[in-house]
Amino acid sequence: MERTIEEINEKALKELQAASDHEAIKALFTRYLGRKGLVTQYLRNISKLPRDKRPEAGRKANEIKRTLDKAFKEALKRRLSDTFEKDKEIDISLPGRMTLQGSLHPITQINRQICDIFEKLGFDIVEGPEVETDYYNFEALNFPKNHPARDMQDTLYVSDNIVLRTHTSPVQIRTMERQTPPVRVVAPGKVFRCDSDVTHTPMFHQVEGLLVDENISFGDLKGILTTFVHQMFDERTSLRFRPSFFPFTEPSAEVDILCVMCRGKGCRVCSQTGWLEVLGSGMVHPALYENVGYDAARYTGFAFGMGVERIAMLKYGIDDMRKFFENDLRFLRQF
Ligand SMILES: [Zn+2]
Repeated sequence: MERTIEEINEKALKELQAASDHEAIKALFTRYLGRKGLVTQYLRNISKLPRDKRPEAGRKANEIKRTLDKAFKEALKRRLSDTFEKDKEIDISLPGRMTLQGSLHPITQINRQICDIFEKLGFDIVEGPEVETDYYNFEALNFPKNHPARDMQDTLYVSDNIVLRTHTSPVQIRTMERQTPPVRVVAPGKVFRCDSDVTHTPMFHQVEGLLVDENISFGDLKGILTTFVHQMFDERTSLRFRPSFFPFTEPSAEVDILCVMCRGKGCRVCSQTGWLEVLGSGMVHPALYENVGYDAARYTGFAFGMGVERIAMLKYGIDDMRKFFENDLRFLRQF
């Protein structure tokens, strides 16, 4: 016998520690504990020892065989669980990660609802530029230079003569310049004012409406807006027309609707009045017809405008307009 069992054991443990992978451990196991392994051979050779040495040598060799066997099994197990940990990174039993699904912004949804209602009433959708000349934003709409009515809107000027449009009303002029009556359009779009608080943002959305034809009366205006409000909110929502002033309409009216939160009883949203202001409207001022070359004696018409955010806030019960533009997914996912 060239080596003692202790030497074999020591060598086996050293090699086991150095074994780099599963295959290497298995090869070592065969080399030491396999049918022709070194430990197995040692045990076989015990019968060649002198009789009195055999029991002690057998006991020792068997004990080493057991502990070595255990050490190999543990090493294999450790190696397997290491591999499993690595495999976990692509654990095929995990459910797949859901791709975030986008949805339409609440303002886009309300904007489309508004436009849908007017399309069904026979209106076409038109659009105009967001950067406007002073002429289209003010002058053609009967806001002369230095007229105090210009102060009603906190205008963002690009240059002396160019503004970010403060309302969608310039589209009225652009549309009438392009076509002869009958004109029946709604113009949705972004508008800009130098203003920011819980009910104002520097950019917001309006939908403008214009209808011009022969024999159009204030009654038609009331009919169209009543139909719109009933479809946008519900049939129980009454309207109230309040005399007002806009340079481009005469007569002009602010349109209030019965508070959608308290149904007229008075609450925080309607400042205890029971009514909510949602639209501006009026009969088109004859000065506009002159500016676009329409015969003011022949045609009459009405115009109206509303803030999309305002409608969305009322419809969804939102109290801070800035929430629409903060891009907080927790807010946006609710719609
Ligand atoms: Zn109320």
